[in-house]
Amino acid sequence: MTRRTKIVATLGPATDTDRALSDLIAAGVDLVRVNFSHGAFDDHARRIARIRALATKAGRVVGILGDLRGPKVRVQRFASGKALLVDGESFALDPSFDPDAGTDKVVGVAYESLPRDVRKGDTLLLNDGLIALEVTRVEGTRVHTRVTMGGEISDMKGLNKLGGGLSAGALTDKDREDIRMAAELGVDYLAVSFVRNADDVREAWDLLRAAGGEGRIVAKIERRDAIEHLEEIIDASSAVMVARGDLGVEVGYAELTGLQKRIIGLARMRNRLVITATQMMESMIHAPVPTRAEVSDVANAVMDDTDAVMLSAETAVGKHPAKVVQAMAQVIVGAEKWQTSNRADMQRPDGHFTYTDEAIAAAVMFTANHLDVRAIVALTESGSTALWMSRIRSDIPIYAFTRHAATQRRVTLYRGVYPVAFDVTHPAPEQMYPSIFRRMIDDGLAAEGDLIIVTKGELSGVSGGTNSMKIIKVQGAHA
Ligand code: ATP
Ligand code: MG
Ligand code: MG
Repeated sequence: MTRRTKIVATLGPATDTDRALSDLIAAGVDLVRVNFSHGAFDDHARRIARIRALATKAGRVVGILGDLRGPKVRVQRFASGKALLVDGESFALDPSFDPDAGTDKVVGVAYESLPRDVRKGDTLLLNDGLIALEVTRVEGTRVHTRVTMGGEISDMKGLNKLGGGLSAGALTDKDREDIRMAAELGVDYLAVSFVRNADDVREAWDLLRAAGGEGRIVAKIERRDAIEHLEEIIDASSAVMVARGDLGVEVGYAELTGLQKRIIGLARMRNRLVITATQMMESMIHAPVPTRAEVSDVANAVMDDTDAVMLSAETAVGKHPAKVVQAMAQVIVGAEKWQTSNRADMQRPDGHFTYTDEAIAAAVMFTANHLDVRAIVALTESGSTALWMSRIRSDIPIYAFTRHAATQRRVTLYRGVYPVAFDVTHPAPEQMYPSIFRRMIDDGLAAEGDLIIVTKGELSGVSGGTNSMKIIKVQGAHA
């Protein structure tokens, strides 16, 4: 059985050798994430160039997701790279402190207004909530706290206030610059951090397009405001990310699971993509196998119908990045096996279609889910037909046959959709089906005699024109 749910892996120091990147690709990674919070243009450019070259060499398509830092408040660096915070001890945060000289008593913060935004009694959380501090007093620029939940802290970890309210606008000056960089790097998806509403998303689209970028915008859902504007944010984006790290801190982690299900359900219902992220296999930063709780977390996201699950530190700074991807892939396949037993409620019984290609996509999925079909082939320009198909649950693989490299990379995020490089304008009209069959047999996607469904437009090579579906038996190359 082919895995349908996609895997996004964050690149970082642990994946900086060709060997590590090749292992990630061999383990089945579908997209890689470059986090603009860490590293400079050259680091990102080098990583992207390497992954593209190695994917091509391996005959695979790997999408690229750039992730903007956003207005995330972070501590600065420690003199020794890290510090151990002990329960009950005092610890201070100070925007005027030397950014490279943090100790276990005080550290710099790249957020000038911190002393004005917190007051005595507030709870501050470091590193996605792993360390907790209680503000005891504010003195000049220095915020004094008592450690209520200690632990090890290292350079540039995030800082949140429980209940939210530490940061302002979604796009910082650095983000605006990084959007130009993302356009130059040609990322397929660009994630916008800490969006508050649809306007934040639209601004990112405008800036990316103005910079000449053709990627799609992913809105990261990670603050309370975004939950209040969920529908409009989803509609304004191509995809959303359930960014559970900051979200869990802002809304309290007990709300996370319910919110995750709601966000995934809404995104799919509104024909958008969704990525589930943060701490999915966290223990595998060090350990060779996931905990049972992590297995269950990944499986549940799959059963909620997420398009992709994401790895952060597990691959960026983890001990065995490729092993994490392998383990995650196994868990996904295991979960999908349980999920596909019931095809009855996979369709959307009500609702209204706006576009012809959307109607065709729904008809295809209804047919595929009720007939013994080996595969679906969508001849597609932009990938939109495949996107609509993939919003309906099924266990039939959807092959996006397209001549555009950008579309091939784009569909790497779509659940159950696999890119196939195929130039629809190339074969003569009467050779169209024979060339599709040949390609499927050669690639092992179907065998002679298998029933498949093919969708295409009247004029092959025109975007948005899919208006027909054909149910057809695969014939051998010499038929
Ligand atoms: P975000 O809020 O965007 O998720 P993050 O700091 O949590 O930011 P992740 O990409 O989620 O970053 O990675 C988790 C951790 O892995 C980081 O806190 C950091 O310690 C480490 N890390 C990730 N990418 C890099 C990198 N390129 N260089 C150094 N460390 C990295
Ligand atoms: Mg984040
Ligand atoms: Mg993170």
